[in-house]
Amino acid sequence: MIFGDMGDMGHEQVLFCRNDDVGLRAIIAIHNTALGPALGGLRLYDYASEADALRDVLRLSRGMTYKAAVAGLDLGGGKAVILGDPSIKSEALFRAFGRHVASLDGRYITAEDMNTNVEDMNHIRRETDHVTGAGKHHGGSGDPSPYTAWGVFNGIKACLEVTYGSPDPAGRTVAIQGYGNVGRHLARFLHEAGAKLIIADINARNVAAAVSTWGATGVEGEGFFSADCDVLAPCAIGGIVNQRTIGMIRAPIIAGGANNVLANEDVDGQSLAEKRITYAPDYVINAGGLISVHAELHGWGPEKAMDDAGNIYHTVKRILHKAQAEGITTICASNRLAEERIEAVSRLRRMRVG
Ligand code: NAD
Repeated sequence: MIFGDMGDMGHEQVLFCRNDDVGLRAIIAIHNTALGPALGGLRLYDYASEADALRDVLRLSRGMTYKAAVAGLDLGGGKAVILGDPSIKSEALFRAFGRHVASLDGRYITAEDMNTNVEDMNHIRRETDHVTGAGKHHGGSGDPSPYTAWGVFNGIKACLEVTYGSPDPAGRTVAIQGYGNVGRHLARFLHEAGAKLIIADINARNVAAAVSTWGATGVEGEGFFSADCDVLAPCAIGGIVNQRTIGMIRAPIIAGGANNVLANEDVDGQSLAEKRITYAPDYVINAGGLISVHAELHGWGPEKAMDDAGNIYHTVKRILHKAQAEGITTICASNRLAEERIEAVSRLRRMRVG
């Protein structure tokens, strides 16, 4: 069954890691290394079953392949999960995991993800160099959210250009759901560019902060979906665009930083296309954090990382044009773009050099 799933999804390698002394049970999935080493975060989660953990790591690692490929990075897709209670962490647990990462000798590079943080990465770094996103004092690039937000801001500009003929956010209204790490930076970039802001957040204090800082208008709950605006920017949780909420949406553009925005990529992507709502695929527009990690791996500074994240503008435009030209959804267009790049680079590497 495991080889069947790996074959169906196109995985290269899956490593099961166990260390009873520290209670480690982990899975590292390497999906595709055609473009470079497989990079993807380490998730710590109390899965209902081992099968659930395997399904999650296989799905997430494949997603990383597409994300890196469309972003134009020399990285493949990977992911890791530790099966366990997120409230029980230890130095030894992460160092044991780090030794397994070391054993892959650079084929997999790990990073922060759900329930893991800078401190955990710093433990891993004591066993292997193949870890990113460690704190600034440990040679890492630190918080990725400014880069993510800069990429989202530029992706929004691309959507505005394709929809209205001008990328300029001045005078446009953007509704942001989630005034957290990404939402806060995005609000600043948009405000500085002259956009008007509508903010929704389950935490009323966050809404109040946005209202007083940027003169934003607050909306509650599902008021976000029916907001009278040019762009809906989901920056909180996934699954919010679905068959129920699509009926409420009045904005012509959906472009935000949240992961897995569409509850069902095929069904909801098609419904949005039929309603002529432009959707910037989540994994394309929110790749700024991954781009900053890529820059960190190359030893490039924060300015180059910001420049590269800004190129999401060109990538989103290319995807929207491809979707129009081929009569397909934007998700389908970005998936095709990723597959075409992987195929082209793989073909190139068949040529022997030296
Ligand atoms: P965060 O936890 O800092 O912020 C999330 C905000 O959303 C919080 O203010 C929270 O109160 C609010 N929120 C939660 N549920 C909500 C709901 N149902 N309605 C309205 N508001 C709600 O998280 P973040 O780092 O800003 O990430 C936001 C999203 O972007 C997540 O989906 C994350 O996976 C994705 N993402 C983040 C990065 C990054 O660099 N941080 C990179 C890629 C993708």
